[in-house]
Amino acid sequence: MILILSSNTDPQSAEYRQLTSHLAGLQGIRTRVHTEHGAEQTLTEIYLIGNTKALDLADMQNLPCVERVVRVSEEYRILGRHKDDPRPSHFEYNGVRFGQDTLNVFAGLCAVDNAEHVELMLKALHDNGQVCTRMGAYKPRTSPYAFQGHGKNCLPYVFELAGKYGIKVIAMEITHESHLDEIRAALQQTGSPTGVMLQIGTRNTQNFELLKIVGRQKELPVLLKRGFGITLDESLNAAEYLASEGNRNVVFGLRGMKTNMGDPHRNLVDFAHVPVVKRLTRMPVCVDPSHSVGSRAASPDGILDVFHATAQGVVAGANMVLVDFHPAPLKALVDGPQALLLKELPHFLEDVRIAREAYLQRAALQQRFAQ
Ligand code: PEP
Ligand code: MN
Repeated sequence: MILILSSNTDPQSAEYRQLTSHLAGLQGIRTRVHTEHGAEQTLTEIYLIGNTKALDLADMQNLPCVERVVRVSEEYRILGRHKDDPRPSHFEYNGVRFGQDTLNVFAGLCAVDNAEHVELMLKALHDNGQVCTRMGAYKPRTSPYAFQGHGKNCLPYVFELAGKYGIKVIAMEITHESHLDEIRAALQQTGSPTGVMLQIGTRNTQNFELLKIVGRQKELPVLLKRGFGITLDESLNAAEYLASEGNRNVVFGLRGMKTNMGDPHRNLVDFAHVPVVKRLTRMPVCVDPSHSVGSRAASPDGILDVFHATAQGVVAGANMVLVDFHPAPLKALVDGPQALLLKELPHFLEDVRIAREAYLQRAALQQRFAQ
């Protein structure tokens, strides 16, 4: 059960103390307080954990400071979408809104190789009106002999160039808690010219200790990729780990499932789960067509499978697209064969716009027929 308190409730007030002492007296119930400090108001939610079935909704509603009571199911208590749940399905970071109602494209390098390629990529994004990108500095690789990413050494120039080209959010995978420290240090050292969305890759979806550490910081939002070989429920619980530690600014990423049933694609594209995740949770949903498809193969209509998969995700209501581009794919150190070319960026963005328009028209059609 969640008690949503009136905005700007003062934790020093007599009413608040009255509320907490009442809650402390409830048998078999523990509480967990979550506070969200926004620009205009502070929102407080109190989670009641334990045998809440015995509690009467109306009684709880009448407690001091309580504006609303939501009875949550066991599943995804914080990030879940529960019955009559008024909690938001969006958040804002560095001036960019991430919600179940918006769409942001994160085109960029799978792996940072050199400053020249980073700058060419960022300039192309800027010229095409984009404010988000992906830039891999820490790469989890199958072979220990493969390029592992430039790590902290590339962060200063990546952040400075991002600032130069007006990029506000960079999705960047981390695989260890030290990477979080390195990113924060580099942001501070460069004067935070941009923002970072921490990415938990599919190999780490159930790295619970990493999830807890990333969840304990609330400064940077998180893109959690679905685990490649676990159920959707298991991956959604992994997202809940982040929120249960305090960070609820989480985007959930679909990136295909590892099975040769998806051949000749790298993974079996799972974008039919976009509406499922939006129904079960309040998280914005990302699709990663590059790591799902894994090649530049095209259909007889000439359209690349990566474009088709993107459109399938967007037409189903996806809120974010993470996609690999590279100025010189033959020279890319990671995933060159699936990268789109810079000259394909305007085409890709227009294709995404068409798919988004189709989604919005479908949503409007649904509204019309529902009346
Ligand atoms: C990536 O986005 O660079 C990546 C490695 O993705 P995934 O974790 O989905 O394989
Ligand atoms: Mn990759």
